[in-house]
Amino acid sequence: MILPKSNRLTPEQVAEVTAIVGEFGCQIQPIIGAVRTIYAIVGDERDELMINRLEGLSFVDRIDRIQSPFKLMDRRSDLASHRITIGGVTLGEELAVIAGQCTIDPRNPNFFLETAAAVKEAGAHVLRGGVWKPRTNPYAFQGDAKSIDILMEASRLTGLPVDAEVMDEQQVRVALDAGVHMLQVGARNALNYSLLRTIGRAVAKRDTVVLLKRSLHMGSLNEFISAAEYIAAFGNPNVILCPRGTAPALDGYRNHPDESITPLLKEKTWAPVVIDPSHSVGKASYVPACALAAVAYGADGLCIEAHVSPSQGIGDDPKQALTPSVLADTIAQARQIWSLRHSVMGGV
Ligand code: PEP
Ligand code: MN
Repeated sequence: MILPKSNRLTPEQVAEVTAIVGEFGCQIQPIIGAVRTIYAIVGDERDELMINRLEGLSFVDRIDRIQSPFKLMDRRSDLASHRITIGGVTLGEELAVIAGQCTIDPRNPNFFLETAAAVKEAGAHVLRGGVWKPRTNPYAFQGDAKSIDILMEASRLTGLPVDAEVMDEQQVRVALDAGVHMLQVGARNALNYSLLRTIGRAVAKRDTVVLLKRSLHMGSLNEFISAAEYIAAFGNPNVILCPRGTAPALDGYRNHPDESITPLLKEKTWAPVVIDPSHSVGKASYVPACALAAVAYGADGLCIEAHVSPSQGIGDDPKQALTPSVLADTIAQARQIWSLRHSVMGGV
């Protein structure tokens, strides 16, 4: 829909617009109002080049898109009935829980193996463990590829599928070769289109699930959903959206908690939403409340950092990780909220 700056376009301006949209197989149809005339673009209006050329015209105020930019992730797309199942849970049917350490400590593998057993006992469906870590400080521990063996050993011992963040093509290859079930795209890389394409290509013919964190710098919802579309466009639509707090931080919290985003996402996309309260509030004592609020807002799942002995952990674990007993209580309470929403409120 083209909204001109003036009340209507001149015949010369109409001719210029008609020529541009014609190049993209579209036509314009004036919608004549009492005061103002606007112009519908008839045809597939999604071509970015066409939109950019129209937006560049000095007499165009703005373009309002009627068609969704997401061919696959839109809630009205043919994929809307697609369901993602992992660890015995189908997202949307039951509250899904991903839990485990921020970072696997390769010098103390037993911590991770114990954490794995504990999060399973607490009710988690997927075990998370950071093998490679994106660290703000270049001198901080960056993770260790050897931790992949510890992650897979924990998966074998518990029977839980595992989630790990990948940041480049080689890590994607190592993780998939090892059998990692869920690839995590971190907040720092959610706008790295080259990595999104690499992951999309790598998982295209697999049933791997991708957990896509929300970048701190993602403004609009469209930017987040478009990042998911990048991955799904290669053929595997198993992409979960994971808000994890955004910028600027709320004084006292690590980031600005964004668990209230879920109803807005659900209006636009069918993609499941799994909230990460750990990176959102950034402190173990605040995590349970954020997790429960997330479920009240309609989240399909939670991704929570947990550790058998947080103070002996590395990465974020000393400050953010829940102990197994707090994790178990949080999951139990979150399930009650889930049931309340679904039985009493009909899931709304
Ligand atoms: C993490 O999950 O440990 C992590 C680094 O998360 P984020 O990318 O959301 O900061
Ligand atoms: Mn972390």
